[in-house]
Amino acid sequence: MNIIKGFEGFYIADRNYDGFISSLPPTNTEMEIIGYSEGNDFPIYGVKYGDVTGKNVLFLVSSLHSSTEWSTAWSCRNFLEILSNPNSHPDQKKYIDLINNYYDGIYWIPIGNPWGYNNNSRLNKNGVDINRDFADPNPQSETQVIKTIVNQIKPSVLFDVHEKISPSLALASIDEGEDIDNTYRHKTQRAIEISTMLLNRQAQHWGTLGGAGAGELRRWAGTVPKNKDNEQIESGIIEIGDSNTSGSVENKMITWRTKQGINALFSITLAFNPLFERNTIMVNKGG
Ligand SMILES: [Zn+2]
Repeated sequence: MNIIKGFEGFYIADRNYDGFISSLPPTNTEMEIIGYSEGNDFPIYGVKYGDVTGKNVLFLVSSLHSSTEWSTAWSCRNFLEILSNPNSHPDQKKYIDLINNYYDGIYWIPIGNPWGYNNNSRLNKNGVDINRDFADPNPQSETQVIKTIVNQIKPSVLFDVHEKISPSLALASIDEGEDIDNTYRHKTQRAIEISTMLLNRQAQHWGTLGGAGAGELRRWAGTVPKNKDNEQIESGIIEIGDSNTSGSVENKMITWRTKQGINALFSITLAFNPLFERNTIMVNKGG
């Protein structure tokens, strides 16, 4: 089953940065400027939902690659909107409640690469791929802004939300580098199982996409900053599937991708949620 139904025609994507930002903040969230892109061209925003000073904070970053991957920002926006309005989707309310009950708060960077969003580019203004820049001793402004706020928030879980240009469906995955321990491996497998179950289609394993390079956000976030217990942040990436290999940005495709993205966010969020582990039976019964 798909967790979320009835999105077609409801959420409209906007390719213009200001237009997207004007759709924010979602209900019950606060938005702040946390820095600027290279050349001070665009403010970079952070959105707070719930208590981000709490221990269990989910950190989301979307639209770092802003060319074919810009609907990730819309997926995250609508995900937060749904969490803020549990009664808006009564069939899914139990999942919404599990997420709301487990996480103290969510911190979201809607568009990590604003220049790319406006210019249909994977890269920033200087031609740099932000998601390869996290190991650079002199990072781009966008990279530094993200590093600074992650170090302040100290989330327990961080997901970098991307799209995979392939015919596959949504995938939730985390890095499986050789330095990743068994707890990570367990949660990766768990995420794949839950995604497959909730989406009613086989979610893919990270191995099909390759390992995390040193400059990727998920690698940096999982190894350098710490959570509020001074432990490793559970850090990963979501690659939302695209049914069109050409990377079309037509509204119809964007609507589909946004919807799959919302499902992927629910899947991975539940997979990393101990409350869901204890309530798995209700899912297995077809609820
Ligand atoms: Zn990407």
